[in-house]
Order: sequence, then structure tokens, then C-alpha cells
Amino acid sequence: MAQQKMLKFVDVEREMPEKRPPDLRKQDFDEIYGEYAREKAAEQAGRCSQCGVPYCQTHCPLHNNIPDWLRLTAEGRLQEAYELSQATNTFPEICGRICPQDRLCEGNCVIEQSGHGTVTIGSVEKYITDTAWEQGWVKPIQPHQERPESVGIIGAGPGGLAAADVLRRKGFQVVVYDRYDRAGGLMTYGIPGFKLEKDVVMKRIDQLEQGGVEFVLNCNVGDDISFEDIRSKHNAVLIATGVYKSRDLQAPGVGAQGIVRAIDFLTASNRKSFGDDVPEFDSGELNAEGKRVVVIGGGDTAMDCVRTSVRQGAKSVKCLYRRDKTNMPGSQREVNNAEEEGVEFVWLSAPKGFTGDTVDGVMVQKMRLGSPDATGRQAPEIIEGSDYVEEADLVIKALGFEPEELPALWNVPELEVTRWGTIKADFQTHATNLPGVYAVGDIVRGASLVVWAIRDGREAADAIMNYINGTRSIAAE
Ligand SMILES: Cc1cc2nc3c(=O)[nH]c(=O)nc-3n(C[C@H](O)[C@H](O)[C@H](O)COP(=O)(O)OP(=O)(O)OC[C@H]3O[C@@H](n4cnc5c(N)ncnc54)[C@H](O)[C@@H]3O)c2cc1C
Ligand code: SF4
Repeated sequence: MAQQKMLKFVDVEREMPEKRPPDLRKQDFDEIYGEYAREKAAEQAGRCSQCGVPYCQTHCPLHNNIPDWLRLTAEGRLQEAYELSQATNTFPEICGRICPQDRLCEGNCVIEQSGHGTVTIGSVEKYITDTAWEQGWVKPIQPHQERPESVGIIGAGPGGLAAADVLRRKGFQVVVYDRYDRAGGLMTYGIPGFKLEKDVVMKRIDQLEQGGVEFVLNCNVGDDISFEDIRSKHNAVLIATGVYKSRDLQAPGVGAQGIVRAIDFLTASNRKSFGDDVPEFDSGELNAEGKRVVVIGGGDTAMDCVRTSVRQGAKSVKCLYRRDKTNMPGSQREVNNAEEEGVEFVWLSAPKGFTGDTVDGVMVQKMRLGSPDATGRQAPEIIEGSDYVEEADLVIKALGFEPEELPALWNVPELEVTRWGTIKADFQTHATNLPGVYAVGDIVRGASLVVWAIRDGREAADAIMNYINGTRSIAAE
């Protein structure tokens, strides 16, 4: 019976939820994909082949039990599908929206490999959890018993919040410190609304707050409170501060007005969407309206900048990348979305310098792909004599992020870091070299993904519980 609802991939084509047409979606910051209707979600979930070796599950960082919740969805047993999906994922509706599925679960779907087009796993996951919220199946956090021990979490991004959720459900007193005025980390201030609408994130934060998680916002650890103070207040500490130091360019003219960092540009735009007062946006400094915008970089942050610029009403938007389309680090899905929205990609091009005290152009060097480097990727080489100037009124640098120097900033020189400045932590327990101090997410991995931060946060929460239980039994001896 169950089987009849599955294995539909031969007859049923892969279909994503409806994508709003570019001309319409360019007008606002709302998400670009609609929601499946119930029948459509069941039909699409029913395309799963229920193969014996679910590579989708192996390649999902959370090892979500994808084939089973697809089957339950196909059978119309949505509440059970939700229960199963939330058992392994703290924020399934967020992952369903913003995981680069083409590189994770869907990219490894067996029917994709056989040429039938992957099961639309992310969209079904989003549908299941959005429905769960609508139907009131998402349960409030209600610990069975309160515990006296407390955990201090520094950083309210997905890593910190996933740990907060697990620990609070177990009854621990959880305090989350963040230097921003809103929780959510890059889900709130980095990722634009057209990929992840902000009320989706705020709903989860409300849920945590209502469940007893305490948020101490506008609190920059190392500045407003010392790391040692936090350590002394709590039985264990989790560092989940992400990576925020923007990589920079060394090129003549790079200090000109009108050359800005991606994180500043995106944060200003997200703040504007919240209705905040943003002087740097209103002054035009971080606003692309009416400008010729050039974004430098080829990752997902660059894609978010070009698409944000389009929505702000830029005159033209170009993306400069030193390799070609096939060698871009960004998700191909996002590149396609950007192209549909009118972004022009200038492949095999690198900035050599900038003209104007207030920028009016980027001196561009054309590149070709040479032999593979140590990482196996073809290294870009300069084509001599091919320089030209690309006119620009706003240049956005999206060249990646590095960790801040936490041991120095927080006056804890004994906290071990790697040669890249990321915190050294055990891969499974996420314990650092300091007793009772754990670290997760981008500050350990370097710039990564929301889903990996969630996995780390959940694992660290388990390790912290074991640690606290261990210290309690030692104390009782
Ligand atoms: C523009 C952009 C787009 C992205 N798009 C995607 C995407 O589509 N899909 C995806 O999976 N991933 C995406 N990512 C990556 C993803 O957002 C990160 O990997 C993820 O948010 C990391 O989670 P985290 O909890 O480690 O850190 P963060 O989300 O960075 O949160 C860290 C928090 O710590 C706080 N903090 C830092 N230092 C201190 C301090 N000293 N005191 C107090 N608080 C502090 C910060 O204010 C922040 O709130 C994107 C990243 C960027 C920049
Ligand atoms: S969490 Fe991400 S990788 Fe895992 S099933 Fe969901 S969309 Fe796929």
C-alpha cells in the first residue's frame, strides 16, 4: 500500500514550488518560492524511490531520516512526518529554505543520478514544518524538570540557538549573549529576506524565549562583559561567535569612498527590512539605488549582494569573478536566480585597482584558467594587456570571512586556535582546551553553512550535558 504512493519518479516530473517571475520578485525582499499545495507536496514526496542506501541521508549533515518523512508525506501523514523531521533538525523550515541542497541531500539523490531529477527534499521539508507551525504541532519548550546548572552561550546564530534549544529542553538554565540587538546571527542580519524571510527566524527566537531561554542582547563579550566573567557565572560555556572579519583586497584605490564590505551592505539592507533607522543606508553609502554596482567575489555572499542590489533599484549590477561559471564556489541555483533577475556576470575577471576618490570605476584584469593548483582547482592566470575599466558607483567586496582574534580580544591567550585563527575544538564533543568551554559553528569550521552550525550545536549540547553531569557526580563523591 505504502509502496503504491512511492516510486513515482518515472511518471511524475520533478516540480519545485512556483517561483515568482523575476520582474515581480525584484520589487520586494520576499522569498521567491511559494509553498506546495498539500497534494503537490504528497505527489513530489512520492517520487522518492525508497532506495536501500539513502545517499540523501548520508549527505545531509544532520542525517535527517529523509526517505521516511517523504513516505509519510506521500501518505498524507504530515504530523508524523513533522515529528520525524524535527527529531534530527532544530530548524527544519530554515534548512528547507536555505541549505544548498544541490550540494547536499538533493545532489546525492539516487533518482537524480539516474537522470530523473532529484526529489525536491528541501521544499518538502519546508512544507512539512510550515504546515506544522500553521497547525500548532510545533510544541513549546517545556522541560520536565528544572535543573539548577546554567550554560552561557556566546553568539545567537544557528549554532548557539540549536544548543540553547537542546539544553533548555533538558531543563538547564540557558543564557545567550549576543552583541547585536536581535538574535539569529547571520540568519537575521546576513542572509537576505528573499532567501529567508525574517519572521521565520523571529518565530523560532520567540519560541526559545517563551521556553525560558534568556537573551542578553547588545552585549559584546570582551567589551561589555569579560569572557572570564561569563565563565564564572555558568557551569559551562559555548562559544558560537561566527566569523566576521572580512577578507580585503590589496589594490590601488581600494580605500576610495563607495567601496564597501558585503557584510555592512547586507546588514544595512536587512535592518531596513526590519524598519530600523539606518543612517548609512539613508545617506546612500550602503544603498545601491540608481547606482552602477560591481560586486567582487563568486560565493553565496556575492550572490546575496548582487540580488539585494537589484532589489534596491540599482541602475546595473555586475559580478566580477576570477574563475568561470563552472568553477564558482556559490550555489548554481543562486547564480541562475541572479541571472534571471538581470545580474551580469563578468567571468574570468579580477580587480587590479580602482579609479576616483569616490569610486567611479574598477580596473579589471582578464584571466584564463591555468593548471590545477594544490587544491585541484585550475588557478586563474592574468592575460597580459587585457585590462579595461568597468564603470561603477558602488563596489561591494564579497571575498569571504575570517575569524576575529578571540584569544587576544577576550584576553584568554590560553584558548587554543588553529593557524587560521579558528578555535580548536574536538570534532565530536566540540570541547576546547579549556575545561567546560565548547565551541561550534563558523568560529570552528571557518565560514560554512547553517545546517553544519545546527549539527555542531546539537552535538555540543549533548557533550555539555555529559560534562555537567560528570562534574556533578564528582562533586557528590
Ligand atoms: C551573506 C551570507 C549568506 C549566507 N547564506 C547562506 C545560505 O544560504 N545557506 C547556508 O546554509 N548558510 C549561509 N551562510 C552561512 C551561514 O549563515 C553561517 O554558516 C551560519 O550562520 C554560522 O552560524 P554560527 O552560529 O556559527 O554563527 P553566526 O550566524 O555568524 O552567529 C554568530 C553570532 O555571534 C555573535 N557574536 C560574535 N562575536 C560576539 C561577541 N564578542 N560577543 C557577543 N556576541 C558575538 C554575532 O553577533 C552573531 O549573532 C551565509 C552567510 C553569509 C555571510
Ligand atoms: S537539512 Fe539541508 S541537507 Fe539535510 S535534508 Fe534538509 S535541506 Fe537537505
